[in-house]
Amino acid sequence: MLGLMQDQPLLISSLLTHAERYHPRSEIVSVTCEGETVRSSWGQLARRARQAAQALLAMGVKPGDRVATLAWNTHRHLELYYAAAGIGAVLHTVNPRLFPEQIEYILNHGGAEVLLFDLPFLGLVDGLAGKIPNIRHQVVLTDAAHLPEGRDTLASYETLIAAEDGTLVWPRFDERSASGLCYTSGTTGNPKGVLYSHRSTVLHAFLCCQVDGLHLSRDDSTLLAVPLFHVNAWGIPYASAMCGAKLVLPGPKLDGESLFSLAVAEECTFSLGVPTVWLGLFKYLDEAGIDVQRLPFQRVLIGGSAAPRALLQRFHDAGVHAFQAWGMSETSPVATVAALLPHHRDLPKSDQIDVLARQGRAMFGVELKIVAEDGSELPQDGSVSGELMVRGPWVTSGYYGGVGGQVVDADGWFATGDVAKIDSEGFVTLTDRSKDVIKSGGEWISSIELENAALGHPAVEAAAVVGVTHERWQERPLMLVIRKPGSAAEPQEILDFLADKVARWWLPDALVFVDTLPLTATGKLDKKVLRAAWKDHLVG
Ligand code: ADP
Repeated sequence: MLGLMQDQPLLISSLLTHAERYHPRSEIVSVTCEGETVRSSWGQLARRARQAAQALLAMGVKPGDRVATLAWNTHRHLELYYAAAGIGAVLHTVNPRLFPEQIEYILNHGGAEVLLFDLPFLGLVDGLAGKIPNIRHQVVLTDAAHLPEGRDTLASYETLIAAEDGTLVWPRFDERSASGLCYTSGTTGNPKGVLYSHRSTVLHAFLCCQVDGLHLSRDDSTLLAVPLFHVNAWGIPYASAMCGAKLVLPGPKLDGESLFSLAVAEECTFSLGVPTVWLGLFKYLDEAGIDVQRLPFQRVLIGGSAAPRALLQRFHDAGVHAFQAWGMSETSPVATVAALLPHHRDLPKSDQIDVLARQGRAMFGVELKIVAEDGSELPQDGSVSGELMVRGPWVTSGYYGGVGGQVVDADGWFATGDVAKIDSEGFVTLTDRSKDVIKSGGEWISSIELENAALGHPAVEAAAVVGVTHERWQERPLMLVIRKPGSAAEPQEILDFLADKVARWWLPDALVFVDTLPLTATGKLDKKVLRAAWKDHLVG
């Protein structure tokens, strides 16, 4: 017998309708690429999103069509999140930090006919002329006054939406319809598209608003330091509408100084970003001699790559509850969140930070297990590690266009490519991505743990560990370190510092100081590049 409750579809437009009705005055503050600060609200954003939707319809966008963006975190990009999905089209956010050839590939593969982009990307888009034949409409996310001289025939977003009256009524359709498309950065092979649905997106937004999830609420002023093109800014654009949180969109400037001044000016209580962003923030505060206690945040979510323990410690010393979450494009992205359990409350602060330095526990809706190379399930005893498998209603069941073939097994488990331990309480500790694991004489060494330990040394600004060729052990760890300015520490001193923090046979065979470390388009250490550059260092 079926229940008798209503079968209302979970649609992204319903989030905006709710925000407009119940949180119309909750603010949206946006720094545009032109450097203006635009203050609006969920009420105004809802109206402009309807106008943008009408403009998309006028361009011929139909349900299921992809609408591509190359844009930073601004109110205009946020409007498109709702406009495209609201009419049943699919918002395809493209990471503008990728190489032009990758952008070309992704745009062609995604097949959008409309491309909307920020003014600073005009040169990039011009450079793709003739290479992205599907694109019939190009729209610059600015107003007519800011179009460059001689380019006034370009369509400007503000002109287009000003022609619409905002009276559109959001259509109703199947909640399983596609709503968004994001490509993984393709550190292995070509980028692959993850296709979200309205249902997966709304369910994920509930998770973000759970107290034991990301704890987002209408009391928050949230600084979105993770780009809207990085896995839907971790779901916050949707969750903020659900709970009516104030949203602060920093535009193109994610440097420490810009983020700090915006956070102070907008009294931001919460922020989210990858470790690189936070390391940049503290670097700025240190160099400018600003007291970290001036950080207005109550909570900071660190994700995208392992949160170094020293970074968590710095936030907590500043009175900010920093915690981490783990996920990936394929998991919408949030899958696990690190939070203290009641029995951790009385632990010394440093032990609590050890808890938060893990990747956290599965939230309701997400199932996890670890498996051996032969696929057999491994015990969750906190000591055995294996490949992390995940399934749930906001986990992918296959890539866009069938790329990569069957990616979940018969029981729906998706292989993450991450290597992890899970303890008896369900805490996940990620030791590596499977392709970054260092295999020394058949044993595995965790590059993440080594990097984390090194970051505890006061002279270390950034550290990366990669496996390089070794005659006897096949692979041994090499540590690359950026020293803090003014530090005179020698490599041996840092290696000595590591000696009592990791197993003896894990200690890197060499430590080299470098000026920079390569980052991927989402701000993570690019270990593929490092391995290629340093692979012969020990055998050379
Ligand atoms: P890409 O692979 O394109 O960089 P994703 O953003 O999907 O894109 O990356 C997901 C990967 O990032 C995860 O599989 C994992 O390796 C890493 N990651 C994400 N969050 C964490 C975390 N808290 N700790 C360690 N690694 C993380």
